[in-house]
Amino acid sequence: MGDHEKPHPLTTAAGIPVDDNQTSLTAGERGPTLLQDHHLIEKLAHFNRERIPERVVHAKAAGAFGTFTVTHDITQYTKAQVFSKIGNRVEVLGRFSTVAGEKGSADTVRDVRGFALKFYTEEGNWDMVGNNTPTFFIRDAIKFPDFIHTQKRAPQSNYKDDTPQWDFWSHVPESLHQVTILFSDRGIPAGIPYMNGYGSHTYSLINAANERFWVKFHFKTQQGIQCLMQEDANRIAGLDPDYITRQLFESIQNGEYPKWTLFIQVMPETEAETYRWNPFDLTKVWPHGDYPLLEVGILEMNRNPQNYFADIEQAAFSPANVPPGISFSPCKMLQARLFAYADAHRYRLGANYEKLPVNAPHATRTHNYQRDGSMRFDDNGGPTPNYEPNSFGGPKASSRYQEPPLKISGDAARYEQKRGVDDDYIQPGNLYRLMPEDEQKRLIANIVGSLKNAPQTIQEKMVEHFRRADPDYGKGVAKALQQA
Ligand code: NDP
Repeated sequence: MGDHEKPHPLTTAAGIPVDDNQTSLTAGERGPTLLQDHHLIEKLAHFNRERIPERVVHAKAAGAFGTFTVTHDITQYTKAQVFSKIGNRVEVLGRFSTVAGEKGSADTVRDVRGFALKFYTEEGNWDMVGNNTPTFFIRDAIKFPDFIHTQKRAPQSNYKDDTPQWDFWSHVPESLHQVTILFSDRGIPAGIPYMNGYGSHTYSLINAANERFWVKFHFKTQQGIQCLMQEDANRIAGLDPDYITRQLFESIQNGEYPKWTLFIQVMPETEAETYRWNPFDLTKVWPHGDYPLLEVGILEMNRNPQNYFADIEQAAFSPANVPPGISFSPCKMLQARLFAYADAHRYRLGANYEKLPVNAPHATRTHNYQRDGSMRFDDNGGPTPNYEPNSFGGPKASSRYQEPPLKISGDAARYEQKRGVDDDYIQPGNLYRLMPEDEQKRLIANIVGSLKNAPQTIQEKMVEHFRRADPDYGKGVAKALQQA
């Protein structure tokens, strides 16, 4: 063995060389272990602390690094540096997850998939924390913890029960659109490369003239949509619960890099007031006929993490991270997520989670007055001032990043969205009607495979919702329930 291949000496966490990593220090050959075996104590104590709190949602994930390259000019809509010129390329981190299952759960379950991206731009990190669906089950975050409880283990039995989800959905018709997507073929993607990603919420773009546009982001797979049939997914879940994680890792290892084309839909600011759909309702899409897809660039995943915990488990995304030129909208779900994501990371990773190498900006540096806190492992600002205003050259905010004022009006109250023209049944019906007949049949079979386990009163309420979306949809579910 050459000198350069010599392994490093094993050390304790404090760097002290260790003499033996295979036998504990004992009082006599058969005697009890001595407390002075510091290496043993430290090894066991650290092992006990290896797990950090699991994400309540999106715990199971695969992740990779890659690039985003601009192919089309959208500078008329946004001044964001990432989109500043054709050919611009930025480093990206992607984390692709299931929602409901725990960190060790099977990949091939029927569930929404998280599609979270971190763009390391020169103006700070842009986190696009999306899903593989353009919509969601609810439009107001006040319902979120209740909805998620229906997706988790039952409080008494600790197993997953079909009844709570159908009970919830039967009371919340705005969920019907997402339920239709979830039980369609796309509810079980055949792999990360074979699904689309959507920003889902409406966001805003702001251009150099400080004009605001509403925007939807769509990442369309270049590999084509591929889904698993329920029976195959069930089989794979037993044989290889990490099937989708493995597939992404191996395809990148083999040089097959999945790609997506980024498109946007753009709505001029004032059109939001008169558009037939509430454009900030997360249970609705903007039909392509009204707002066509405009091509923007290419996302490619091409580098596996060197260490899953460091790069993917510790990755912390927040939709609040938007660089100048990209911003928020009044979507009630987005507004709540702006708070909830960073809050979850502060609990999960600590107050200084943005300092972890995977979360810190890669293409720029941070300058602010945040100091101290647990696990502050950089120089903590060194000797520079930790207050503002100051006379010693501390960082300064700039009004050139000010967004145009957003006009709002009305009385502070709790508003339920009005039904009527803005109906919760039209878009699920549209989706049902665009599916080919064989997919409609599978959709109904998938629904009934789960709904048959709920009490009859809930089944009847759901049949009525499906019927209101499309009479054939309702009839199909009712008939299949009778035969189940
Ligand atoms: P279009 O005919 O222009 O688009 C239909 C869209 O449906 C396509 O984006 C297609 O995705 C997508 N799609 C097809 N099958 C499924 C499925 N099983 N689950 C989810 N999406 C699917 O129609 P409109 O824009 O007028 O919308 C009609 C319906 O299409 C909507 O009510 C909505 O349910 C669905 N949809 C619309 C989207 C939008 O942003 N407008 C986005 C996604 C779905 P692809 O092209 O990738 O195959």
